[in-house]
Amino acid sequence: MTTYFNYPTPELQEELKKIANAIVAPGKGILAADESTATMGKRLTDIGVENTEENRRQYRQLLFTANACVAENISGVILFHETLYQKADDGTPFVKLLEKQGIIPGIKVDKGVVPLFGSEDECTTQGLDDLAQRCAQYKKDGCHFAKWRCVLKIGKNTPSYQAILENANVLARYASICQSQRIVPIVEPEVLPDGEHDLERAQKVTETVLAAVYKALNDHHVYLEGTLLKPNMVTAGQSCPKKYTPQDVARATVTALLRTVPAAVPGITFLSGGQSEEEASVHLNAINSVDLKRPWALTFSYGRALQASVLRAWAGKKDNVAAGQNELIARAKANGQAAQGKYVAGSVAGVGAQAGLFVANHAY
Ligand code: 13P
Repeated sequence: MTTYFNYPTPELQEELKKIANAIVAPGKGILAADESTATMGKRLTDIGVENTEENRRQYRQLLFTANACVAENISGVILFHETLYQKADDGTPFVKLLEKQGIIPGIKVDKGVVPLFGSEDECTTQGLDDLAQRCAQYKKDGCHFAKWRCVLKIGKNTPSYQAILENANVLARYASICQSQRIVPIVEPEVLPDGEHDLERAQKVTETVLAAVYKALNDHHVYLEGTLLKPNMVTAGQSCPKKYTPQDVARATVTALLRTVPAAVPGITFLSGGQSEEEASVHLNAINSVDLKRPWALTFSYGRALQASVLRAWAGKKDNVAAGQNELIARAKANGQAAQGKYVAGSVAGVGAQAGLFVANHAY
């Protein structure tokens, strides 16, 4: 076995590290606004709005034109391809709006999940073929980080060895290609919350999956200081009869991460995975308060748990744009506090703060 490779040049290391560190600066996290057209359609249908390109643009415009104070808690936004090239009513490209606020644009680069033939309903994620060219273009167009989501499912026989290895490897190839194009990869191996499993099983599966991911990243010579991890929090299955406290979730989550994620990784930006907005803030706060070592920044990269109240308050009406923006600012602030262990449960209300956001077998 030969182990020869070159580290990225010092300049590239510096550039990647700087981007990653800026994203996980204290009290800051990511707004995941990269819903695919189909997923955005579901969100819009829920509030009685038709899924047209113009309505998607109007909604994203609401998100990106909120008061500049949102940038105190949002360091980066993940965009979908379509959104990256859209403009505000006055013709300003969305990317420029974000840059002006000091928010770093990012881009979803995976092309969705596909089945693993012969498996028990497991999947891998596609999109590697033209990834280097797409990353080169996205970098030119203002994106400095990327996201690629892989999905693992807990069942009696899953996740299988095949799914664990395949998803770890595809994440590592993705990460390596991103870095070659000066883009920070967010590595997202999501263990879904679907099922009746308890917290211990969720923890063990998360540890096994993350151990495989970091072995693959090492095999592919990925420069860890220039990456971020986007994992699930360790929670019991959605249908588990046993209930756990936020402290239980925090202990299981940080223990799993301590056992598997190298301290060279600058930050961990959790997905919300169907938790309500309030739950996601309370859990993140508990994670940042638990009496365990925490060598990385622990913050948020929420989609549903940052947008549920915004969508409800807006409901597709021009008159409600400011109300929607106020929900975003409030929830971003709550999560910014939670990222520093300073969030007081219940202190931020929201029109959808308590609503369950679980979607079975969630696609993004
Ligand atoms: P949720 O926070 O809604 O789980 O989504 C975050 C995300 O980006 C999933 O890929």
